Amino acid sequence: MYFDILTLFPGIFSSPFSESILARAREKGLLEINLINIRDYTHDKHNVADDYPYGGGAGMVMKIEPIYRAWEDIRQQRGEDSPVILLSPQGRRLDQTLVKDLSKERGLTLICGHYEGVDERVRQSIVTDEISIGDYVLTGGEIAAIVLVDAVARMIPGVLGDEQSRIEDSFYNGLLDYPHYTRPREFKGMEVPEILLSGHHGEIARWRRKQALKRTLLRRPDLLAEKELNPEDQELLKEIKAELEGGN
Ligand code: SAM
Repeated sequence: MYFDILTLFPGIFSSPFSESILARAREKGLLEINLINIRDYTHDKHNVADDYPYGGGAGMVMKIEPIYRAWEDIRQQRGEDSPVILLSPQGRRLDQTLVKDLSKERGLTLICGHYEGVDERVRQSIVTDEISIGDYVLTGGEIAAIVLVDAVARMIPGVLGDEQSRIEDSFYNGLLDYPHYTRPREFKGMEVPEILLSGHHGEIARWRRKQALKRTLLRRPDLLAEKELNPEDQELLKEIKAELEGGN
């Protein structure tokens, strides 16, 4: 899958995409990151990519022409249209459902705003989706783009060493993940739950499922309310509620 990222600050992306899982995905050819410096598409001698807002007021606004030219160039080079996503606090909130949908695309074009944002006509002319990573305002869309790429890349088959892990991760199937433990077996009096040392795979799977349901019930009951539970899960949930009522 490819990502064409339009930005005024390509340097921000260098380390997140050059370490760990994303770096390996790029080496394996599963993930292509193409950073496009919007400034390269300015035509004046000072490479001006932003300007004062019409009507006055604080901050600068990113100009449409260099963004539009960069997008035209990408389309021509790719020979196809990909969804054009503007990272914006005003967009649809990114969640795992949206991440899964985005991962089905062959490629995405991401536009990172900065300062007060982009000229409104960028939205009108080329943007197909506006996406926010949460209800707060960042200084620029670069960090939001990194979050989006990271979350989507994990969904690409082959990117994670163990495909099972993403299926068990929080949100993938509408539940939070179960708790994890590794060595040592005891730390400052805190023991690893006995069941995990038992070697009974069926029992361990049941315990983990129960923990995932319990965590979701306690921390994110909204997720549980939306999830269709199979009879086994319903049984586990009954047990959990009885235990909680009993003070466990
Ligand atoms: N004036 C804009 C507003 O209030 O809607 C905020 C501009 S913000 C300072 C600059 C850029 O950061 C935005 O154009 C956008 O690309 C990015 N950005 C800020 N917060 C974001 C968020 N929560 N999700 C995605 N992108 C965000």
